[in-house]
Amino acid sequence: MATILCVDDDSGILSALRSLLGQRLERDQLVEIAENGVEALEIIAELAEDGLELSVIIVDYIMPGMKGDELLVRVHELLPNTIKIMLTGQSDLSGVKRTINEANLFRFLEKPWQNEDIVLTIQAAIRAYELDHQLELQNQELQRINNELEIIVDERTHELVEKNKELEQLAVTDRLTGLYNRLFLDQVLAREFSTLSRHGTTLSLILLDIDHFKHVNDTYGHHAGDEVLKGISQILKGNVRESDVVGRWGGEEFLILCPNTSLSDTLKVAEKLRLCIEQYDFASIGRCTASFGVASYQQGDTMIMVETRADKALYLAKDQGRNRVMSST
Ligand code: GH3
Ligand code: MG
Ligand code: MG
Repeated sequence: MATILCVDDDSGILSALRSLLGQRLERDQLVEIAENGVEALEIIAELAEDGLELSVIIVDYIMPGMKGDELLVRVHELLPNTIKIMLTGQSDLSGVKRTINEANLFRFLEKPWQNEDIVLTIQAAIRAYELDHQLELQNQELQRINNELEIIVDERTHELVEKNKELEQLAVTDRLTGLYNRLFLDQVLAREFSTLSRHGTTLSLILLDIDHFKHVNDTYGHHAGDEVLKGISQILKGNVRESDVVGRWGGEEFLILCPNTSLSDTLKVAEKLRLCIEQYDFASIGRCTASFGVASYQQGDTMIMVETRADKALYLAKDQGRNRVMSST
């Protein structure tokens, strides 16, 4: 429903307008009239109380008290969406100019008017108001959809970030033991080595291999063997520093990378681990031991050289009877 307010100090004009609009406007309209600006503002306030916004206001220019331009500027402040039309018998256009600039005047009509003119103008004004209104509703709807989308996108992004972290973690984790896998160990070794000579720091490796593990599998079964691998992984992780990197090097071999740790300190760590394993009561098999090879970075070493020395030391430990720690320099 469109709401139209006609304001003129001439009651003859008001009733003429009212009956013209009543006859000629097809749709369901509410036509209000006011004889001056103050009354017009009161009607607007009453409409607002009923939850109605004025669609169109037609205002005479010359009125006692508040003039038409003054009223339209005031109305524009209150109701920027309402379509404003001015009726004027004056050839002086200063009021019209002001309302064009300050109240976004839609049209001005000259008195005396042609009925056809006024009907067409008001029909156009109602359409303009309704279109604006629809546009505003559509904008609000778009804004709402946009906000919802943003929330969904944020949620999805968060899920993806989390999923990515999980996948990254999975890619560097050994499935059985939960330790870092060979891929990750190789990456960390390469990274650590690239900074060693530059920072003048050192690095040590502990390579360990479970003793007679084939026998464990053969005697107690592969599943029991897996349990031992998991148990030893827990022992290793639980007994090294936060900065040490523990990983599964392959099969029943593990590598521990100890940044900034001297050979003698690393030997102590290895000895402690050896003892922990030796003393541990494995649920599936009872006792089990491991042999350890330790090597430290020396100036000019490549990564392969240190790895090879750790391997050699491990071989030595096996050769000399197992369940022991050896180093190679
Ligand atoms: P040594 O003391 O000389 O190291 O003897 P060993 O029997 O431990 O050495 P060997 O290399 O002959 O055998 C290693 C065994 O480890 C053989 C292999 O089946 C077993 N193994 C490797 N990976 C796994 C695994 O993931 N689970 C189980 N249960 N066994 C594994
Ligand atoms: Mg082995
Ligand atoms: Mg072995």
